[in-house]
Amino acid sequence: MWPFTSSSALKKSSAPVFFTNTLSGKKEVFVPIAPGFATMYSCGPTVYSEAHIGNMRTYVMADGIARVLKSAGYRVRRVLNITDVGHLVNDGDTGEDKMEIGSKAEGIRASDIAHKYAARAIADMELLGMDTKDMLFPFATHYIQEQIAFIEALEKKGFTYRIKDGVYFNTSKFAGYGKLGRGKEQRIIEGSAETLAARIPQSFARIEKNDQKIHEADFALWKFSPLGIVRQQEWPSPWGRGFPGWHIECSAMSKALLGKEIDIHTGGIDLISIHHNNEIAQSEGVFGKAFVRYWMHSAFLNIGEDKISKSLGNSVTVSEVIARGYSPLTIRYFFLQAHYRSPLSFTWESMHASSEALTRLWRLAKEIKEESKEIPANSEIRDRVITHLRDDLGTPQALALLWETVRDEDLSPKVKWGVILAVDEVFGLSLSNPPSTRGALTPEDLPEAIAHLAREREAARTNKDFARSDELRIHIENSGYAVEDSAGGQLIRRVR
Ligand code: AMP
Ligand code: ZN
Repeated sequence: MWPFTSSSALKKSSAPVFFTNTLSGKKEVFVPIAPGFATMYSCGPTVYSEAHIGNMRTYVMADGIARVLKSAGYRVRRVLNITDVGHLVNDGDTGEDKMEIGSKAEGIRASDIAHKYAARAIADMELLGMDTKDMLFPFATHYIQEQIAFIEALEKKGFTYRIKDGVYFNTSKFAGYGKLGRGKEQRIIEGSAETLAARIPQSFARIEKNDQKIHEADFALWKFSPLGIVRQQEWPSPWGRGFPGWHIECSAMSKALLGKEIDIHTGGIDLISIHHNNEIAQSEGVFGKAFVRYWMHSAFLNIGEDKISKSLGNSVTVSEVIARGYSPLTIRYFFLQAHYRSPLSFTWESMHASSEALTRLWRLAKEIKEESKEIPANSEIRDRVITHLRDDLGTPQALALLWETVRDEDLSPKVKWGVILAVDEVFGLSLSNPPSTRGALTPEDLPEAIAHLAREREAARTNKDFARSDELRIHIENSGYAVEDSAGGQLIRRVR
């Protein structure tokens, strides 16, 4: 049986929530397929190397959407897929499979690479306070038969053709192909329809030319293993040995796990023009009805002028942030300061500022928790916070109100506690159970030798190397410091 998330949610009736739908480009009230329930599918990591904090921004957005729905009384059913085959280097139909590249780089099998990086990505999501316990994380390679059956159904309906390197989707057979927009990501970022028009050719320019394709936008559903080459990941199919194209996994797995039609589908804006348009063509082609009600996309996390990306080599990972002595929840705080549809620039200075702000917030929340005796009161501010959060996840507005509230000396602790609880239901920053940071030293305040040991210990904890972590704790303690592991990471205090 599906592990539905919150049983208490059943007792509440669901309240109105608004989301910006990429399909219409407008903010819409959320009307689910089944009253009180929401199904969500999120495009997840391609697990050939470590996920970066740009990927995490998209997952934190999806977590926020699920949390806001739960707080509004919905039961939420979530899938986040793990791509472990078929995603080729240029996001198109040619080039090497990213998994094979990862496997060669590390000298271990593609399936081992997949398990290693999927486990790390999920661990990172949990470190960032994501509620993963009721989510499903299906691997594309576990759904090969479903993908083959999906392609067969498309074939029966006349959407496919076969050329020398694979079976392709004929986009001219699907009326309305590209309805999600081609390059809408640019419109979201720059707010200009002219820029959009100028960008359309570039969206497709990324795809290498395949002379046998009927239309440039056609895409591979099943690729044949190249003659004379045995791939690590290949399967028999009605069309010959090979592997699925990148897009079919999402259509097949969302159908298998959530049904033919789903409420919400999420991803980063880079997925709009090709991957999500192709998912729509596949799913609506087979089932002949709307695939997704609300398409939601997160803007990029950038570094300087560029998006954070594995291929640009400018990745920052959760482990790197932790290794510098910051709580992983600092990353979440940093994300929540911006609206999910606005681009956000990462700098280490911004990480430092977020860390100081979050530490201060935890300190205040702890005091308010004690003063209020954990009795929350309803208030007009609490209602306003909830309204902001239900209005397309207005996290910057909710955060501003939270700061105003905790600093206001005229408000009662119970009112403040009520606001903290309402915010944290969606923020997931451990504000209702704040780690005790009293007396804890920031990485900058620690002597370098201790800060170094602390970084090594955080890295050991992230890698679940608890023996090493205990060894490092003893070293730190022998130097006159106490170590406490909290929801926000390790806290270090001077004891002598
Ligand atoms: P990938 O592992 O490349 O398949 O990407 C996984 C998810 O992360 C997708 O939803 C991407 O759209 C998203 N993503 C990739 N880079 C960024 C970035 N710099 N900022 C925000 N989201 C991103
Ligand atoms: Zn997908």
